[in-house]
Parts: sequence; structure tokens; C-alpha cells
Amino acid sequence: MPHRNPHPRTKYAYIIPVLCCLWQAVATADAVNTQWEIMLRAEEDYKRHPSSDSYQSQYATAINNYAVVLVHDGKVDQAITQFERAIALAPQDTALTNNLSSLLYQSAAQHVNKRQPRKATKLLEGALRYNPANVKALLLQGDIYYDKQQLKKAERVWKKAALLAPENPTIQQQLLRVTQDRSVEDSFRRLPQSRFNIRYSRELPASAETTLREILSEAYQAIGRDFRHYAKQRITVLLYTREEFHERRQDLPEWIGGQYDGKIRLPLTTTHVDPEFKRSVWHEYTHAVIHELGQGRCPVWLNEGLAEYEGNKQKRRPYVYLSEYIKSGKEVPFVLLIQGFGQYQDLESATLAYEFASSVVAFLADRYGAWHFKRLIKALGEGEAFPDAFHREYHLKVPEQLMRKWREWAETNVK
Ligand SMILES: [Zn+2]
Repeated sequence: MPHRNPHPRTKYAYIIPVLCCLWQAVATADAVNTQWEIMLRAEEDYKRHPSSDSYQSQYATAINNYAVVLVHDGKVDQAITQFERAIALAPQDTALTNNLSSLLYQSAAQHVNKRQPRKATKLLEGALRYNPANVKALLLQGDIYYDKQQLKKAERVWKKAALLAPENPTIQQQLLRVTQDRSVEDSFRRLPQSRFNIRYSRELPASAETTLREILSEAYQAIGRDFRHYAKQRITVLLYTREEFHERRQDLPEWIGGQYDGKIRLPLTTTHVDPEFKRSVWHEYTHAVIHELGQGRCPVWLNEGLAEYEGNKQKRRPYVYLSEYIKSGKEVPFVLLIQGFGQYQDLESATLAYEFASSVVAFLADRYGAWHFKRLIKALGEGEAFPDAFHREYHLKVPEQLMRKWREWAETNVK
């Protein structure tokens, strides 16, 4: 038998890197087998000397190292079980508890990406039990609460995170955001509706409730049909008075009619059903569907163009500025789509950008059919670059060929 130090101060062979590359299968089956054999030998030694602290700690370390190679091999559940065994042997060993805490956090983050917040919450509870100072776990838990509109809870965990990492700018931003939101939204009424988590201002009449609920279910069906995708996630919808809407974010320009930032936020201007309001609901709900399909990777102009395309089905908006451009014979450069949505700007430039984006989407739907949209957005969500994904769907090079074909179409259709 190879010689082993009877009083080992065994070093951890690996510490789990808190990076997404954790999930790459870098371990070979050999590494798993080797660590497993080392673990079995450590177990034998420990069973022979059950009262020896050093054998016990060596055994715990061997289990830890075995768990780490399991993680690298993609066997996360098995690794969690092994970490738990190691911790049962050496509960005071913070290297072990920190490793398990990071693993549980990373597994939770994967579940958040797969839109399984309940499973993620359970894993995060574990992560924080093993390491209450796991800042990343606190941040992610705050995000989940925030998405579910549980603002008080989100604020509480982010405050905890801020105490642990006072210099972290992300935590400060999240805290500012939630404090601003709470000042307006804390008093909102809550509506029981399973598909949407609807909250609305106490200043609004009760009839606003039925109206919004009806419009949303209609949008859910119709936009779901267009995109061949029905939102799986429960979407939070917040309905404000116009004053409250602007009070929340002072930097929003007056012309903003709604917002999607993971939640749908809408100001209600009139008390009765107004096609303009319905249009806004359809517009914002389209963003929610695109977000889910494209994992947040759809270019802004296309996202806005699609939202306008759906919104136009409720109330058509004329191409006020774009038609002037076309009539004058001026070139409308593609770059306008990229720059047009970068910053909040004046009403005229913003309207032109929206009209341009919406006309490009209308052209694509008209010439090629709306069924391409889902495939395009899904490909982007899977990480494909926009020009490649676009070329595969439409056989057009971006921007030259797309702009040429669009212009021909626009000459007769943009009025
Ligand atoms: Zn929009």
C-alpha cells in the first residue's frame, strides 16, 4: 500500500470556482474513479481508527474532492449528497460548507434561467443555510422576490447583502430600485388571477381590474397564436395612475406609454376602455413573450418592432415621420434602428425609430409570414448571432439586402 501520512493536514484538491464554467464536463471518468478510490481508502482508514480526528477529517476531505469531480462531470445531485456526507463528518469545516453553498447557489441560478423559481428558492435556502454570507445567493433570492412583486422581502435580503458587501454597486442599484418601487407600489391592490400577478393602484377604480384582466387574457391567446408560444412564467402586471407611473422613475420621458423590465408596467389614463390602453397592453405583453422565447437576447429594435406590430392590431398607428422620409426619397439607414433605441430621446426621434422598426417587422410578416418570428427569436435565445440567424430564416444579408427589399416594400406600404 502506498505510504500515507498518518496525521494528514490534507489540502483540498479543488475549490469550486464560482463561475458558470463549473458546468463544463472537464472531468474525465478517470478523475471521478480516482477520487472515488481515494475516498474508499480514506473510509477504510477512518473505520479502522474511528476515534482519530485526523482520519475523520481526511475522510471528509476525500468526500469533498470526490464531490468536486462529480460536479465537473455534471453530476450535480450526486455531488450535493456527497457534500452533505462530508459536512456531517466535519460540520465546522467552512471550506466544505462554502463549497456546498456555492454549488447550491449555482444550481439555483440554473433553475432561474430555466424559469423554475420555486426550485431555485429551495436551493437558495440551502445555500444560505450552509453559508449565510453567500452574497450571490442573497442577490439572486432578492431577484426572485422582486420578480414576484414581494418587494419587502426583496429589500430585506438585498439589505443583508449590502451589509456583507457594501462596495458592490449591483446591490446598491437593486436597493435603490426596490425603494423607489415600494414608495408607490406598496399600497397597490392585489388581484387573484392565476396566469398574471396583477397589482393596481388604490387610486384607480375597481372597473380597471376587469378591463385589464380581459385584455390580458385576449393578448395571451392571440399573441400566443402568433408566436406559437404561450408564456409559461407567471407575469407580474402593475397598473398605475399616470402620476404614480412617472413618480417612480423621474427620468422617464412623458411620452412613454408603458414599460417592460421583467414586469409589465402601465399607466392608466382614462377610466373606460380606451383602444390606446389596449394597444399598450398588447405591446408590453409581446415584450414578455419575446423575453421568454429569446432569453433576453432579441435586439431592442426587433423587440420594439414586434411589440408595435402586435399593438397595431389593436390600434393602428400611422407612419407619420417615416412616410415623410420615404416620400422625400432620402435613404433610411439601418443604423437608425440600432441607435434609435439607445437612449431616451425626444419624441420625434423616438417615434421615427419605432415607426421604422415596426415597418421592418410588418414587411417581414407580409412577405415571409409571421411564423418565422418564433424561430428567429429562439435561435437568438440560443446564442446565435443576429445576422446569421436572420440570414438562415430569410436568406437576406443584414443590412444591405434587408434594407433594399424593405425599401421596395415601403415605397407602396408606408403611408
Ligand atoms: Zn416597447
